[in-house]
Amino acid sequence: MPTIDYVDARRARLEVEFHFAAAHRLPRYEGPCFRMHGHNYTFTVALEGEVDPATGMVADFGVVKGAVQEQVLARCDHRTLNDVLENPTAENIARWIFETLEPRLPGLVEVRLFEIPDSCVVYRGGRGRAA
Ligand SMILES: [Zn+2]
Repeated sequence: MPTIDYVDARRARLEVEFHFAAAHRLPRYEGPCFRMHGHNYTFTVALEGEVDPATGMVADFGVVKGAVQEQVLARCDHRTLNDVLENPTAENIARWIFETLEPRLPGLVEVRLFEIPDSCVVYRGGRGRAA
């Protein structure tokens, strides 16, 4: 029996999850988050595109992980997010991650950031539509 070989292009979505720990304070917020505190953040990076019939891939997971390590994690893991963003809300962090990765990751469509396990922000670029 012959093995299956997909020689046509089909679209697929690829997602990779990352974690980092960081401190922040929200300078415009009236409440506990005005004070410096920390979170264990989780975020996913999603890419969409056509599966290359030759490689069978949309993108190389290793390339995605390398870009995130160099461009995002190296700048925010075990750091103070206010050194990067003046007002590091989950919304602004998700946007910063997206815009930082966009030049390096063709097909990037979404960043989903969890500041706490039950609440997340989804950012899909500057096209004006929410999740
Ligand atoms: Zn916080």
